[in-house]
Amino acid sequence: MDKEPVYLLDLNSEELKALVVTLGEKAYRADQLAQWIYKKSAVSFDEMSDLPQGFRSKLQEAAVFFTLKPLEDKISCDGQTRKILFQLEDGQTIESTLMFYENTNSGRERRTVCISTQVGCPMACHFCATGQQGFVRNLRPGEILEQVLYFIHLIKTTVTTEDRELARKAITNVVLMGMGEPLANYENVRTAVQTLNSKYGVELGARQITLSTSGLVPQLRRLAEESLHLELAISLHAATDDLRNRLMPVNRKYPLAELIPACIYYLEKTGRRPTFEYALFEGINDSAENARETTELLKGINCAVNIIVGNPTASNEFRSSSLAKAQIFQKHLFAGGIFNTIRVSRGTDIEAGCGQLKSRWLKDTNSQPVK
Ligand code: SF4
Repeated sequence: MDKEPVYLLDLNSEELKALVVTLGEKAYRADQLAQWIYKKSAVSFDEMSDLPQGFRSKLQEAAVFFTLKPLEDKISCDGQTRKILFQLEDGQTIESTLMFYENTNSGRERRTVCISTQVGCPMACHFCATGQQGFVRNLRPGEILEQVLYFIHLIKTTVTTEDRELARKAITNVVLMGMGEPLANYENVRTAVQTLNSKYGVELGARQITLSTSGLVPQLRRLAEESLHLELAISLHAATDDLRNRLMPVNRKYPLAELIPACIYYLEKTGRRPTFEYALFEGINDSAENARETTELLKGINCAVNIIVGNPTASNEFRSSSLAKAQIFQKHLFAGGIFNTIRVSRGTDIEAGCGQLKSRWLKDTNSQPVK
């Protein structure tokens, strides 16, 4: 029987050590290997010049390194957003996006990678192109991590900066907001995030990693108990169950009366202030009354609201509201004492909305989204 391949990026530091020892090498070689993967951005075993040739050959035979193949690579007109459609080993596809922010509040440049955690998504939010593709499978930890490593390598080889810290790290933030519901792939996401966060891995601070969820309450409570302390974003989009049920089927299982206490629990356990994402859809959830309901729902909670406009959607039923409408909505929230910001979606010229590039690719190639 064929042996299962060992995917290097799936392994934590202990598992990597165990592999190295199994291959007949001293355990410290695992640290060298991790350095090459996560710090020096190697893309092949051949580059790992301080590892003995024999060991590299054994690795080549025993382990799989990178598996993602870029199929499409699109850069927005302003050059600030880059979206890649990756093909996985089994032929499935996912999207990842790199976003550059030059003028941030901190005065430092920000480079954010938005990654996928599943092929398709089981949550079936009605406005989302990914949700309409159905669910295919969870990503392995390595497939989640590799999206980040791909962009780190890309930046290190193509972008220069005077900022030494920025040059060393290449990216500053990761958001788990691409295709899929991260909390529905809990174990694999946790493993990937631990490697992103760990000294052994990418060494990205927990504050620099944001997990976005549609509201899986039990997993959210479980996440609060972990020592990960990630930034949390909740896709709210409506402040009453009636309206949220229309937009997001998950709300029928975990209504607001369960979701909001779980968010407060997360805040209490981690000290991280949750951000509620609210995408405005013309004539659906963007009225003064909707703003008042949102204020009522969130009053007294230490949180922020991210009002999103310009978000491309899965159907004509959900057209984005205008910026002017968003500004009125914002005023109502401020009047109700709710801290909020407006985010205008980026990369709309390159189908940067979640699942849009893949949907177009599936159409162009006559492929089926779900096997
Ligand atoms: S919005 Fe997020 S959770 Fe909802 S279907 Fe799309 S990818 Fe899944």
